[in-house]
Amino acid sequence: MKIGVPKEIKSNENRVAITPAGVMMLTQADHEVKIESGAGLGSGMDNEAYKSAGAVIVPSADQVWAQELVVKVKEPQPSEFTYFRKDLLLFTYLHLAAEKGVTEALLENKTTGIAYETIQLANGGLPLLTPMSEIAGRMSVQAGVRFLEKVHGGKGVLPSGVPGVSPANVVIIGGGIVGTNAAKMAIGLGANVTLLDINIERLRQLEDLFQGKIRTLASNQFNIAEQVRKADLLIGAVLIPGARAPKLVTEEMVKTMEPGSAIVDVAVDQGGSIETVDRVTTHEDPVYVKHNVNHYAVANIPGAVSKTATYALTNVTAPYIFNLANNGLKDYVQSDKVFANGVNTYQGKIVHEAVAKAHNKRY
Ligand code: NAD
Repeated sequence: MKIGVPKEIKSNENRVAITPAGVMMLTQADHEVKIESGAGLGSGMDNEAYKSAGAVIVPSADQVWAQELVVKVKEPQPSEFTYFRKDLLLFTYLHLAAEKGVTEALLENKTTGIAYETIQLANGGLPLLTPMSEIAGRMSVQAGVRFLEKVHGGKGVLPSGVPGVSPANVVIIGGGIVGTNAAKMAIGLGANVTLLDINIERLRQLEDLFQGKIRTLASNQFNIAEQVRKADLLIGAVLIPGARAPKLVTEEMVKTMEPGSAIVDVAVDQGGSIETVDRVTTHEDPVYVKHNVNHYAVANIPGAVSKTATYALTNVTAPYIFNLANNGLKDYVQSDKVFANGVNTYQGKIVHEAVAKAHNKRY
């Protein structure tokens, strides 16, 4: 198959959809890979590295988009819609439920849109989203403790404390992928970690996993209020699949936090789980202060660590790209239900139930 990889053009997007290792895997199986010049630079991969792995470097996006299969990271931007055509396979994060323009452009041009985020395992897991949650969870602690430092407007607290001085209290609401990874980092820093979830079975697993190094609590209004009051760093990490995040922490609760405390609401990409998180922030200007508490509400946290994020993403996408190139769309969809869940648009129709519902279209 002829495969193209463009340079990402969404602002501040430094990831790339394929690494030299992925190129090597494809070219050794006799596929052709064209990479737009400089596509990997934001993740520390230069043209030479791709060339050595067997890719052809092309100077413009047009040449990349002319291939049979285009692999990307972010949803296409309006200037890229002009490349859509009937015989194009596009494999990328699409987020069509929230992207009306992209959806319409794919349908009008009858382009096949395959979305990373809807590739779903039989147990409901989303394997192409998991690594980004792992990164966001780990980063949430790294970012949060920075804003406990005095020079960054924090209360001036060292997460670990020192002998004779208490460590900081890190409170995590939600014990899924983000919450678990946040807990790992916070434990590593020597903080006092409390994690709340409504799923008691999950808390049972986490208690076993962390062997008494965290405190687990059932998530309810009473426990949340009490923990928020004591938190130096509060991390929002909840998810109700397919829905907006529930506002679990009220403005009144935030007012009870000590001045100079910090909040990192990772769930801000789903509308936020904390009432005072009323806007999305950026890596350039990540924090605002409300009720004397630093609020960090960056919606694309993995963007700050593009090199790690590229490797983490491509580790999980590469096998799907490889199988798609080897089998072609029809055979692959028929033989692999997990991959088939990723197909969102085909021949001018939405073919994914939840995406169709989001657009009030019949499925
Ligand atoms: P997940 O499904 O693995 O975990 C979510 C957890 O929330 C589950 O354990 C669930 O039981 C728990 N939960 C649900 N309702 C709750 C409640 N009322 N109280 C306490 N816990 C509750 O999801 P995840 O992959 O960890 O993602 C968490 C959030 O982080 C999502 O909103 C996701 O979109 C977001 N995210 C953001 C970024 C970013 O850059 N900002 C990156 C990755 C993920």
